Formats: sequence, C-alpha cells, structure tokens
Amino acid sequence: MAHINNPMEIYRLTDGSNCRACNEKTCMAFAVAVFKGKKSLDQCPRIPADSLAEYGEALETPDTIDEFMEEAVQALTHKIPEIDLKEAAARTGGSFDGSRLTVRIMGKAFSVDTRGNLSADIHINAWVAMPFLNYVLFAKGVAVSGRWITFRELHGGPERLNHFRQNCEKPLKRVADSYTELFSDMLEIFNGSREKTHIDADISVVLHPLPLLPVMFCYWESEEGMDSSMHIFFDQSADQNLDAESIYTLIAGMVKMFEKIAERNSSEHT
Ligand code: SF4
Repeated sequence: MAHINNPMEIYRLTDGSNCRACNEKTCMAFAVAVFKGKKSLDQCPRIPADSLAEYGEALETPDTIDEFMEEAVQALTHKIPEIDLKEAAARTGGSFDGSRLTVRIMGKAFSVDTRGNLSADIHINAWVAMPFLNYVLFAKGVAVSGRWITFRELHGGPERLNHFRQNCEKPLKRVADSYTELFSDMLEIFNGSREKTHIDADISVVLHPLPLLPVMFCYWESEEGMDSSMHIFFDQSADQNLDAESIYTLIAGMVKMFEKIAERNSSEHT
C-alpha cells in the first residue's frame, strides 16, 4: 500500500474542483481534515477507486498544510550548505556577496546565506520560501526564450492542471473582475511590465516572481454576453528552472497576495 505523510499528497488525489460534496468548502480543507483523521478518503466521491484502494489506509502523523509547508522549507534549507552559492547566483540570475545569495522576487530582495538562513525585504512565508529554495537548489539556468506556453505544456503541468485552474486562474479572474486597479498595481508595486504579444488579450502584464521565471497574466474583459477570462502563461524554459509543483505553489501564493491587496483596497473604499 502506498504511503502518505503530508496533506498535499491527499490534495493531489482530489480533482481540485471544490465541489463541496464532502461537506468541506475546498479540496484543500478536505485534505487537511483527512490528514487529521477527521474525515476518510472515501468521503470524496471524486477520488477514483484505484486511489482509494492504494492510499485508503496509508495515513500517518496528523499535521496541517502550513506545518507541512514549514517542514518542507526546513528540509530544503538543510540542503543549502551542500551547494556553492556563488555558482548558484550565476546560475539563477542572482547576486552573491560572499555569504548570501540574493535574488529579486518581483523586484524585492530575497536572500539565503551559506547556512540556509532566509532573509527578505518582504514577509517570508512558506508559499514563497519553498519555490525560492527549489529554484536556488535546482534551477538549470536556462535562458528565457521569449516564447509563451500554458501551464498544461509544462513538464508535470497536466497532473496539476485542475488545481492550477482552481487555485490560480479562477480566483485571479474574480479579483480582476471586481478590482479594476489590479493590473496598474501589479505594474507599480511589483515592477511589472506591459506586454504586446500575439496573444490578443485586453490586458497583458508580465511579472518576474523569480529572475528566470517571467509570468504573463492575460485578462479578457467581458463583452456581449461573454464572460471575462484570465489565463496565465509561462516562458518555454520555465520547467527547466523550477519544477511544476513549485511553479504552482508560487503562483497560488501570489494569487493569495493579490486577493489580500484587493480586500484591503475594497475595505478602504467602503
Ligand atoms: S475533496 Fe472531493 S468532494 Fe470535497 S470538494 Fe474536493 S472534489 Fe469535492
């Protein structure tokens, strides 16, 4: 029988639709509830029978998503002393001052020292720290190609596509629908740039969550009975410099941040 030792693995067994048939608000909440022993896997009708047979009895220590993420960050920081940070800085588009590697995350400095200690100009949370550390440790240093592809086209993208749509594109579309300054704020606060491409969106903005990982957010406004839409594109080199799970985590973290900015904006104007 397969082994499960964190809630993310349970989450991946769901289809990410947040359909609520399990009486939880989201698939993520369901995954945590199962992991804590409050629900059983078979309470999600959308988990295939073969996964239930494979994982049904395999749960281990109770935990939470945030604690799991913290543990993952700890495990990655322990690998940092094993690598040459000067070489890593050259490979990742960062800089090295003799003891710390620094890269810019949407224009803000984010650093790790030779012992694995993190420091940053922005609040450090695990949703950013985990992709950052994976990037420093494993990026191949492949140059940005200028050719845009979808998340599905990334290596490892198809397996995570539902979750990407549910937790990245859909909530970001909701933010853009109600918070018209979103794209101007992206440009100003996060060093974004407008992009003109063959993708014929009403608004296209490129941000650099990591130096070799440009991300393009494209928004089509609603018109003539057609709903608005939001799609997120990546450079063709993206999966050479960061794995699809980390890309998904990073974008989901960014979307949470945009949601908070939008909430703050709306409370300031009410
Ligand atoms: S865990 Fe399953 S039942 Fe619950 S919301 Fe997700 S897909 Fe629906």
